[in-house]
Amino acid sequence: MGARHGARMIPATYQRPDAIAHALQALAGATGSNATRPIAGGTNLLDLMKLQLMTPTALVDVSRLPLDAIEVREDGGLRLGATARNADTAWHPRVERDYPLLSAAMLAAASPQIRNMATNGGNLMQRTRCTYFYDRATPCNKREPGSGCSAIGGLTRHHAILGASEHCIATHPSDMCVALAALDAVVHVASVRGERAIPLADFHRLPGDAPEVDTTLAADELILRIELPPATHFAAHSAYLKVRERLSYAFALVSVAAALDIGPDGVIRAARLALGSVAHKPWRRPAAEALLVGARPGAVAFEAAADALLQGAVPQGENAFKIPLARRTLIRALEVATQGTVDNQGSTRPHPETLA
Ligand code: SF4
Repeated sequence: MGARHGARMIPATYQRPDAIAHALQALAGATGSNATRPIAGGTNLLDLMKLQLMTPTALVDVSRLPLDAIEVREDGGLRLGATARNADTAWHPRVERDYPLLSAAMLAAASPQIRNMATNGGNLMQRTRCTYFYDRATPCNKREPGSGCSAIGGLTRHHAILGASEHCIATHPSDMCVALAALDAVVHVASVRGERAIPLADFHRLPGDAPEVDTTLAADELILRIELPPATHFAAHSAYLKVRERLSYAFALVSVAAALDIGPDGVIRAARLALGSVAHKPWRRPAAEALLVGARPGAVAFEAAADALLQGAVPQGENAFKIPLARRTLIRALEVATQGTVDNQGSTRPHPETLA
């Protein structure tokens, strides 16, 4: 790996196994984030390596493994392969039709070029964009545990208002994961020790006193796929709103995934809400969603749900604006969802029951 910014050369081995079992064997025994790492699209890991923020000694290229399928489950849900590209996932006809919330969130992310390279598994594993994390001249508990947090008392425009700790106030940058959280996705992973399923809500963690640990994935585990339960009842009334400082290729200040199941009588039968870029993980609170169930869409119900979801929000220096911004964006997303899902071509989506 080439050196930049006067950094020293750090050698890393590279292998490209042709079977999942061989990849798991290559990852066996890995500990910590700097030992053996899987790589696929490389859209975040290679940047981190060039800056020597991550210095794996061995790379296991999983991009050629048979993990790129997008398949319909028997119950109508979907399996999203870990190495399926973000672009292929976002534009997949079944994702667009049944999970327009996910499609919209993914197309709000990054640039077309990055979406063509980035994989679904890699999207889950991307690291914070905290400025200080990327600046090796400053203390950062996530980069160097115990060194301190430069963001606290520093520049905090993009930092957390929920779930932060005295050790780290970073946010998770993904758009895709916000929609996946709202859709009750489950991440299936494997190691030589066996397979297990991790609900997306438990996949990313809050910083606590170990901000260097982003997820509950063990170092020797590989993401196989993301499973989505059936969600066609949310397809007609969903919205992903992303507020950012320029119109494209920017991380969110605040994002909202909102989905409503509205009955023929106009009453909300079920609701899903998740916030992005406000915490170390996608922020969801089922109690806020419960306030919408049985209510008619409108300001009273939406404001109550927004207040419940943001309960306990704490500003960090200059980011106090994010609390009212998140509240307004959440209410607006619910209004847009009530009017009907807008598809990726900009028209209002017909109810899925009218689709062939
Ligand atoms: Fe590091 Fe987290 Fe502090 Fe940013 S917020 S400087 S990532 S410890």
